[in-house]
Amino acid sequence: MADTQYDIVIVGGGLIGASLACALKSTGLAIALVEAVSFRSGTQPSYDEKMLSLAPASCRILDGIGAWRAIKSHGVTPIEHIYVSDRGNWGKTRLSASEFGIPALGYVVSARVVGLSLVRRIADTHAAELYCPAKVTAVETDTDGVSVSVDTEGSAVRIRCRLVILADGGTSTTRGMVGIEASAKDYGQTAILCTVTSASPRPGTAFERFTSTGPLAMLPTTGDRYAVVWTAKTDDVERILCCSAEEFLERLQVRFGDWLGQLTSPSRRRPYALKLIQVKHPVGRRALVIGNAAHTIHPVAAQGFNLGLRDVAVLAEVLATHLKHDRDIGRKEVLNNYRDRRRHDIRNTTRFTDALIRIFANERPHMVVGRNIVLNALNHLPDAKSALMKRAMGLNGNLPRLIRGLSLID
Ligand SMILES: Cc1cc2nc3c(=O)[nH]c(=O)nc-3n(C[C@H](O)[C@H](O)[C@H](O)COP(=O)(O)OP(=O)(O)OC[C@H]3O[C@@H](n4cnc5c(N)ncnc54)[C@H](O)[C@@H]3O)c2cc1C
Repeated sequence: MADTQYDIVIVGGGLIGASLACALKSTGLAIALVEAVSFRSGTQPSYDEKMLSLAPASCRILDGIGAWRAIKSHGVTPIEHIYVSDRGNWGKTRLSASEFGIPALGYVVSARVVGLSLVRRIADTHAAELYCPAKVTAVETDTDGVSVSVDTEGSAVRIRCRLVILADGGTSTTRGMVGIEASAKDYGQTAILCTVTSASPRPGTAFERFTSTGPLAMLPTTGDRYAVVWTAKTDDVERILCCSAEEFLERLQVRFGDWLGQLTSPSRRRPYALKLIQVKHPVGRRALVIGNAAHTIHPVAAQGFNLGLRDVAVLAEVLATHLKHDRDIGRKEVLNNYRDRRRHDIRNTTRFTDALIRIFANERPHMVVGRNIVLNALNHLPDAKSALMKRAMGLNGNLPRLIRGLSLID
């Protein structure tokens, strides 16, 4: 039987793989998107119940690829203020959208809504051929192309393409198949996610509170509900997950304080073990790795999906530009062009989130004093604050066209 042919196979239809399929629609490339877990199953790992904070740059990318309107119609919560504090110390910083002349510092939205809106967009626009549920079991590259073996509920399919893009998440099994190595560091921390009701909600206000056992974020969602991202030492997780709702709320309130009044009605608690996973070189022969498969970072500054979306915006632009000049999109020169354009953002964002964890876990007196001085000083240093926020909002450096509100190519 002859192999099925496409220009590109995207491995993994999670948030990043699905975003890329939408982004590439305007290039006219023939794309196969292979996803292991059914999109509508309650167990889809990428489109789960977690609430994501989306940076303004990400909203522009999602708008440019045609998904933002549908996401917004399901309800998104703007973040107008962020309070950052160091529990038990005096350092505090307040950030407000109005300081930067923008309506919101970010938007809170459920991962499930983002994922399903992307899949709907792919189906409506025929952006890609969906293989789902289907698992990529082997990838073999040669100088002319790539052979991808796909297992679709018992039957095997072989797809031939010019370029394979690996977006199969932090636990990627396909990176190794194309010779891309990854390193992993265990943070020894687990994020516990749930939602709670606040007796004194502050609409549009998010909180990031650093504690000795890890950061605790509270993100505003609809009405008086808040999404909790409680990072705990992995040794304590079982206790926090299994204790009664009363004990959980008591412990949460001690950690968070009274900023939102009494916290009640916790939803189901879900754990996410936290690791830093990085590839040194995202490029293989006719292969490229993006999103969490290339860089899985700590959720402390809510940057993971935002960073991956910037991979998508740059990659779509690079491929569209080389296509315009009739170049083979699987060639090293094309893939290296992507790598060079992404190198700084990926490195800086990864280092920033990793440094935050180390700095706020360090209880040496000089470190505690130093970080609290910085937190307070930021309130009086508008230029430093603005530089920091531009980075967090994905609006610094050489911006890809989708973030600038332009189509992929002139
Ligand atoms: C607690 C927590 C909070 C977070 N909060 C935020 C936030 O506020 N803002 C933000 O920007 N980011 C946040 N993130 C990060 C964000 O969730 C990830 O960056 C994002 O999900 C990465 O998407 P991905 O598609 O790269 O990988 P994944 O979500 O891991 O998706 C990979 C997909 O590939 C599929 N797959 C795997 N292997 C195969 C195979 N062999 N064949 C076919 N398919 C395969 C999987 O089924 C999955 O659907 C958070 C993360 C955590 C853990």
